[in-house]
Amino acid sequence: ERTTAQWVDFGRQHVTPGLGRVRDMVVVRGSGLEIETSAGERILDFSSGIGVLSLGHCHPAVSAAVHAQVDTLTHLQCSIGFHKPYLQLIERLQPIMPDPSLDSFFFWNSGSEAIEAAIKIARKATGRPNVISMAGGYHGRTYGSGALSRSKNIYTVGAGALMPGAHATPFPYWHGMSLPITTSEEELVRIATAQLNLLFRTQSAPKDTAAIFIEPVIGEGGYVPAPDAYLRHLRAVCDEHGILLVADEVQSGFGRTGAMWAIEHAGVRPDLLVFAKGVANGYPLSGVVAPRSVMETLDAGVLGGTYAGNAVACAAASAVVDYFGTHDVLGNVRARGEQLNAGLDRIAATDAGKKLIAERRGQNLMAAIEFRSADKLTHHGLPTGAAVPANIARRVQDKCLDAGLLLLTTSTFEVIRFIPSLTVSKAQVDTALGVFAQAVDEVAR
Ligand code: PMP
Repeated sequence: ERTTAQWVDFGRQHVTPGLGRVRDMVVVRGSGLEIETSAGERILDFSSGIGVLSLGHCHPAVSAAVHAQVDTLTHLQCSIGFHKPYLQLIERLQPIMPDPSLDSFFFWNSGSEAIEAAIKIARKATGRPNVISMAGGYHGRTYGSGALSRSKNIYTVGAGALMPGAHATPFPYWHGMSLPITTSEEELVRIATAQLNLLFRTQSAPKDTAAIFIEPVIGEGGYVPAPDAYLRHLRAVCDEHGILLVADEVQSGFGRTGAMWAIEHAGVRPDLLVFAKGVANGYPLSGVVAPRSVMETLDAGVLGGTYAGNAVACAAASAVVDYFGTHDVLGNVRARGEQLNAGLDRIAATDAGKKLIAERRGQNLMAAIEFRSADKLTHHGLPTGAAVPANIARRVQDKCLDAGLLLLTTSTFEVIRFIPSLTVSKAQVDTALGVFAQAVDEVAR
């Protein structure tokens, strides 16, 4: 057996450099919100595998369902016949959709794949070529989903031409609009609305536009909730022009914001809903759901995939939904979300916080802190003449990890996000706040 140092060397040599890494550590075990490395370090995991482990690592209810399924049926390719875990998962998901019209499902493995399916469904259902997504949005790294992604260039840099027909419209947020951070939400919505109208008039006519893709809370672009008024505006625009509104809830969905789906906060009905991550607690399962009338436009065979809707992944997802039915997970998200965000506000009000923190954002357990930056786009609100250290988010992240807390950064700006499992305890939130406060303090010195 290799030592930790030897495994790390092995990984550096044989794992593609096309992957980034927060740290060269080797993780061997996970339980609840704790992971353990081969060097014996125990780390409080506030990443949950990027919003995947809704119920924590190796949750017994999910593991039991997986064990049972593994001994019953592991795989039936979904174009050969129905399999029971697939149908049982739909039986559980349909009642918790944000709108009862969403009743026709297709399961795949990853978020990117489900986005690919959503693009295909929208083009086929409308007979139109173009799709619009938000500046700062993220929908995946493949050639279709990558064409819709606009949060960072690293995902497709050097990859050549992406899917044609993808257009961008500004998201109602001050980033990139060269506006002061204090710009009112109303004004941001007004500008974003005008920009979308301009896009329709100059680049993608409504009758050429199949769909508008939006994350109800932008994830990889920096944890920015879409204003309710903007989501309502998009609904109205889509209704007026026969465009499909696609809610990408891959990161914001499944309880993370305190509602089952983030779009419920605005009371807006999407035409297509895309989900993944938190639904199966670590097993590869994604999906797209639309009204039967939309899905009926598809020819049999246009959707599919060898592992799409794998039986074990479906069983895991059903166990997660059942757990939500028997435990007040959403109540915990709201209580812990309130505790976490109040704590972050307190840290922002300390001397170190005032010096470094520009803004707290997000909703419940999809929370983030944006630090000040010398970057021209984000320097708003800086006291005149104040010096800003470089790479604050990365440095705070490093210090937290040294102290046993795993936090992730997000976006091209100086943002740290807090996405613990939805079952996080009061004590764990307090621990994380303590470690984060200390790290901010040290970086401010
Ligand atoms: N959409 C959103 C909103 C996401 O956050 C992600 C993943 N971060 C994806 C799509 C892509 O999902 P996957 O990584 O599973 O392909």
